[in-house]
Amino acid sequence: MDMAEIQVIKQHLIDPEICIRCNTCEATCPVGAITHDSRNYVVDADKCNLCMACISPCPTGSIDNWRAMPKLRAYSIEEQLTWDALPEELSPEQLADLAPGADLQTAAPEPPAASLLSGTVEEAFSSARYGATVPPWSAAHAYTNLYGAKSAQKTITATVTGNVRVTEVGREYDTHHIVLDFGTTPFPVLEGQSIGIVPPGTDASGRPHHARQYSIASARNGERPGYNNLSLTIKRVLQDHDGNPVRGVGSNYMCDLKVGDKVEVIGPFGASFLMPNHPRSNIVMICTGTGSAPMRAMTEWRRRLRKAGKFDGGKLMLFFGARTQEELPYFGPLQKLPKDFIDINLAFSRTPGQPKRYVQDLMRERAADLAALLASPDTYFYVCGLKSMEEGVVLALREVAQQAGLHWETLAEGLKRNGRLHLETY
Ligand SMILES: Cc1cc2nc3c(=O)[nH]c(=O)nc-3n(C[C@H](O)[C@H](O)[C@H](O)COP(=O)(O)OP(=O)(O)OC[C@H]3O[C@@H](n4cnc5c(N)ncnc54)[C@H](O)[C@@H]3O)c2cc1C
Ligand code: SF4
Ligand code: SF4
Repeated sequence: MDMAEIQVIKQHLIDPEICIRCNTCEATCPVGAITHDSRNYVVDADKCNLCMACISPCPTGSIDNWRAMPKLRAYSIEEQLTWDALPEELSPEQLADLAPGADLQTAAPEPPAASLLSGTVEEAFSSARYGATVPPWSAAHAYTNLYGAKSAQKTITATVTGNVRVTEVGREYDTHHIVLDFGTTPFPVLEGQSIGIVPPGTDASGRPHHARQYSIASARNGERPGYNNLSLTIKRVLQDHDGNPVRGVGSNYMCDLKVGDKVEVIGPFGASFLMPNHPRSNIVMICTGTGSAPMRAMTEWRRRLRKAGKFDGGKLMLFFGARTQEELPYFGPLQKLPKDFIDINLAFSRTPGQPKRYVQDLMRERAADLAALLASPDTYFYVCGLKSMEEGVVLALREVAQQAGLHWETLAEGLKRNGRLHLETY
């Protein structure tokens, strides 16, 4: 019998019952092994090299599933796309039947440790390679998955206590600031975490809608200090990525909510995109559109500390991009923040009569300041917003570093290992 036929692998699979289709794994995988359709996220066994980069960023744990399978019988992508639930683990007898002669004790090895700088995956530039999966050392403890498919309580019901439009009425874009209150049920969160919203009803195939993920836009002690509430910044999706008209299920459901409405929530999610808490730690925030939500949360927490006389210093630097000033959420409140508290850099790409400017352009203009911050172990970088910005931003950081004479790969390895560069784009 052919050796390939009896080789048993540990096949990496995604649990379709728990996956909330947040796309984090697909964005993280350095070899493009993860793909999806409108139903499931799946892993291509031929491409997955078990590097484990996708495991800790997955907010639900649905990606951490493995099945011993004969290599030639590995579940195909087409098969996985039809699943409603993971298949049962094969018994040793079933495996022995499928792969006669295989040494089942040693045939499915443990996944190897990931190595960013191994040189074996040095291919085309991939920004996802550089994103940290660990938090800053001084981040507070984040509670995750308190409510969800794997938890004792599947969802928590929140009440809408606020819903205001934060972009100009009558334009094609529509972003809302939504406040959810959890009453007396504990829902502890940190800046940089997200929650899942479960839209009511079912999708085209009759299954309950998957949860949509939204970043928390408020500080850890509540949108209103001392309240068990939080805020979200949600953009109504009215066009798909190709510009075709659609009505996004989750975003429209949320933007249409009225004060007093009830919402089913899961989470909180996220244990790495968290802010540092040690004295004089610097935060560089680079965002577009609703990617401003976690940046608002971090800024607000530091603002409250400062107001209370508990701020231990450290720079806050913001690069914020939008098509126009009117489309930029929280433009007004941002202008009111003291200049000695936060260094704000705004880029508009569609202001009539003005040249297009993107966050990367501003970063290059501020190269001297950014290079000093890159070199400081007390500086943490956060990138959030449109998927299309991620690569340009990381390339700009690389350029800034190289022009300052810093060795990018060594620096980037440290940024990743020490939780200093966080990427969250969608
Ligand atoms: C970690 C994380 C944090 C997020 N935080 C926020 C946040 O703070 N605020 C926020 O508004 N969104 C956020 N999102 C995106 C959000 O989870 C949803 O994907 C988004 O609201 C669209 O969901 P929908 O149900 O309205 O659209 P769907 O019904 O899921 O999709 C409808 C169609 O629109 C396409 N589509 C989906 N999203 C977009 C988009 N953004 N632009 C163009 N086309 C799209 C889909 O491919 C599909 O064809 C976040 C996503 C992740 C992974
Ligand atoms: S383990 Fe590595 S190669 Fe496999 S799907 Fe996850 S990120 Fe991709
Ligand atoms: S929930 Fe996990 S497995 Fe599902 S899309 Fe998100 S990261 Fe991937």
